Amino acid sequence: MMNLILLGPPGAGKGTQAKRLQEKYGIAQISTGDMLRAEVAAGSPVGREAKAIMESGELVSDDIIIRMLGHRIGQADCAQGFILDGFPRTVPQAEALDRLLADKGLTLDAVIELKVDDAALIERIAGRYTCASCGTGYHDSFHAPAAAGICDVCGSSKFIRRADDKRETVQARLDVYNRQTAPILPHYAARGSLRTLDGMADIDQVAAAIDGVLAVVHSKSQELTKS
Ligand code: AMP
Repeated sequence: MMNLILLGPPGAGKGTQAKRLQEKYGIAQISTGDMLRAEVAAGSPVGREAKAIMESGELVSDDIIIRMLGHRIGQADCAQGFILDGFPRTVPQAEALDRLLADKGLTLDAVIELKVDDAALIERIAGRYTCASCGTGYHDSFHAPAAAGICDVCGSSKFIRRADDKRETVQARLDVYNRQTAPILPHYAARGSLRTLDGMADIDQVAAAIDGVLAVVHSKSQELTKS
């Protein structure tokens, strides 16, 4: 059982690392952004309310997000634990998460912050796209498929770009992160659960640094069980 939060501005690599952790440890990746995009695609009431807010780069209301997350962490695939990717994003969300976890008798094993440079983020985000069928991530300048226009993993030739990955919107999303999300870092730092890693390193180096943090967390929890 391992419950983690990945924090960091848009484009820091949270989604990429969360997908890898999901495969490696068999824990669920919970991306509130992906959940909202699914609601928008389905045209549900939540999706209709969220669409314009997401396109502007602002945050969807805490009430909606907290309700959505509360349902999600009770689902079967979370039995071995979960990685929160894109949640919490505000102080009230962090407080609601504390209550949700306490109610379910769960604890957080680590909060990992991926720290990155704002200018580099705009470059990273504005060029990214994913395979429409398997979700593998690509980038115009840094990571094109081996055969142009064909997904390396599943062979599909359909790709999608997020509506909020436009250059103008990325700046707004960064401002929102600095103004509304960064203030939750002290919430976790005060408890000693925050680990800050260099998100500018390449994907494998960041992955190795995360594994290093988890190895320490895991050996500490084993010591606690023994004593
Ligand atoms: P993401 O895929 O995490 O970058 O999220 C995309 C967009 O969905 C954000 O820019 C917000 O508009 C919305 N969103 C995702 N997660 C949250 C959250 N925890 N709180 C509020 N809005 C969110």
